[in-house]
Amino acid sequence: MSGNPALDLAGTVTSRRDEPIELLAVPADLERWVAECDELPDRVTADSAAFESALSLREAIYRLACDRVLDRPFDPGGLEIVNNAAAGPMPAIELSDAGLRMSGDLRAVLSQIARSAVAVLADPGARLKECGRTGCTRIYLDRSRGARRTWCGMDECGNRVKAAAYRARRRALATAEGNGSEGTA
Ligand SMILES: [Zn+2]
Repeated sequence: MSGNPALDLAGTVTSRRDEPIELLAVPADLERWVAECDELPDRVTADSAAFESALSLREAIYRLACDRVLDRPFDPGGLEIVNNAAAGPMPAIELSDAGLRMSGDLRAVLSQIARSAVAVLADPGARLKECGRTGCTRIYLDRSRGARRTWCGMDECGNRVKAAAYRARRRALATAEGNGSEGTA
């Protein structure tokens, strides 16, 4: 969704500045999230220790991504967590007629995610932005031509902003018509 699995992981907490919404409340949520992510191995199991390290990696990635968006030096604690995870074992890959198949345990998954974080955060050409919907706080990678993308995802934020703008216009119109009829009465 954000264009990078590391940023997708960081986006599993939304509304970070107001009332944070946690999408990974229990290890099973993390297992499901990994299974849904195209760039990661299909099936992993998460015990509570692995789950905690995934959440700690997620928060470190979020801090570093904010640093990058705000163009300030990286948080040293965040760097340590991400770099340690990136040094871990990698998922195995296998080619067949069905395409690429990736396998590995959660540690390998976290290592893979940390490596995508390093790749995107080190790339001076990567355009990282915070979602334009007030309160969303997700960070995404803008790969659109001319860097015109405004929202983390059309389904979740773009359409909500557009629908709200439409309702606001309808309200303004209704108010204007209401005032008009009062004026002529
Ligand atoms: Zn958003």
